[in-house]
Amino acid sequence: MRIVLLTFAMFSAVATLANTFWVMVNIQKQELVESALDGNRAYAQRIADALDGVLSSDLDRLKYSSKVVSTTFSNRHLLAAEAQRLLEQDNSFNSVLVTDAAGTIVASAPEKLQLNGKSLQSREPLERRRAMISNAFQSITGNWVVFVSHPVFDADGQYLGLVGGTIRLEQQNRLQALMDLNRRQNGAYVFVVDNQRRVLYHPDTQQIGRVLGPDRIVDAALGQASGSLRAVDGDGNEMLAGYAGIPSSDWGIISQQPMVVVQEALNVSALKVAKGIVPLGVLGLLLIWWAGTRISRPLSQLADSAKRLDVPESYERISAVPVSYEESWQLRRALLLSTTLLQEKIGKLNRQAQCDPLTGLANRRAMQETLTNWLATKKTIAVIALDIDHFKRVNDNFGHGVGDETLRAVAGLMKQNSRPTDLLCRVGGEEFVLLLPESSVANAADIAERLRLLIASTALETVGHITVSLGVALWQSGGSMDEVFQKADQLLYRAKQQGRNQVVAERPGTVVKAVS
Ligand code: GH3
Ligand code: MG
Ligand code: MG
Repeated sequence: MRIVLLTFAMFSAVATLANTFWVMVNIQKQELVESALDGNRAYAQRIADALDGVLSSDLDRLKYSSKVVSTTFSNRHLLAAEAQRLLEQDNSFNSVLVTDAAGTIVASAPEKLQLNGKSLQSREPLERRRAMISNAFQSITGNWVVFVSHPVFDADGQYLGLVGGTIRLEQQNRLQALMDLNRRQNGAYVFVVDNQRRVLYHPDTQQIGRVLGPDRIVDAALGQASGSLRAVDGDGNEMLAGYAGIPSSDWGIISQQPMVVVQEALNVSALKVAKGIVPLGVLGLLLIWWAGTRISRPLSQLADSAKRLDVPESYERISAVPVSYEESWQLRRALLLSTTLLQEKIGKLNRQAQCDPLTGLANRRAMQETLTNWLATKKTIAVIALDIDHFKRVNDNFGHGVGDETLRAVAGLMKQNSRPTDLLCRVGGEEFVLLLPESSVANAADIAERLRLLIASTALETVGHITVSLGVALWQSGGSMDEVFQKADQLLYRAKQQGRNQVVAERPGTVVKAVS
């Protein structure tokens, strides 16, 4: 019961703790995921805005240059000077070039690239004749570039060609500088794709120029909206991503963080939660153990005692069990009550086992028990053997029932004529023994004689008068009790021989003659 109680209580406590832990960790996970998604979305948006600003200002400068060169388009030197100025203005472009309407490069910087006279790789800006930012492509020199260009028209609106700048993607330039400035922590990183899903920027430069496969996150970014998404990327990793589009270029910005990094952060915080919960939990479990033991100990002690209610010391044992609450107190009271009743019952049965049921006198077994005690403690014991005279006739004349009545009447007269310290026994059918402790033969003979007279003088119902014969012998400390019994029997026999209704005591001259 104690084990069941404690196990149940401990199990409940552990389950509650585990549940609390699980809920806390889950809430934290949700918060971490949401804040990572939100952070990435805001970050992608910020980068998109910044990049849009950079590209717009590049376009503005090209627009200004296109105006400058439109009036002097035929002067190659001035074109070259303007190209050089643009290149040197800031870090925007890795190269600057001016083409004519057919796409032939007429001026360029830096000069060392020797681009003059070559054709523009992409025809699109020439055909569209408007300011534009190209998708990424590999330049003649094999580098990944984007081309930002502005058309040049003369005062009459005639198309002269274009002014454009290349931005080398792998190289240090303003795009790179912007990204590097905003490098992210916690495994988060940003990359930029053009509308052909080609990577324009990636912290891992090996990725630049790669065309990405199907990827929900990239698709969302190229949709030119801003938002966040928990999805598996093209490489099969679960990502918490934020995305935004760049309106000036149709590019997409993705800021993403692998879920495993968030999970690691979560593990760290789960460990913290566990460190907080475990000591409290252990304390709680100890309290439960203590309380459970306190509740169950009296019960298990009472249960132990209840196994042996029959032993005499059980009352003391049960009384000694400390009880600390109402139910255990009631249980102890009930057990004490039942042990009392049981002991009484046992006592009664013991007494019954030692009693002759017909007369209520002690039986032979009880006599033996008392004698065992007396032989060790008494100095003398007088033995009076008594036998009813001609009892057979009583049975024969009046029947067995009246015989039994007569036996009961004789027993009653014996009780009436004895002291409380004497032991009266029925040892056979109509044979009795009286044991008189600390008595002399003379005294015993007197008592025997008194009894004989009493019986002889008492008129019994139905039977009338009966007589008894008695033999009196004395045991003295150190003597054999068996011999004393034999002697008392012999003396009784002599009393019968001598005519019955008399007492024969063991010393010569003490024979009391029958009174007829
Ligand atoms: P005596 O004077 O020589 O003792 O003669 P007696 O008839 O008493 O002879 P004995 O002692 O031998 O007989 C005992 C008789 O007592 C025998 C039996 O029928 C009877 N008796 C023994 N036990 C009981 C009993 O429990 N109830 C009754 N009613 N009679 C019993
Ligand atoms: Mg007899
Ligand atoms: Mg007899």
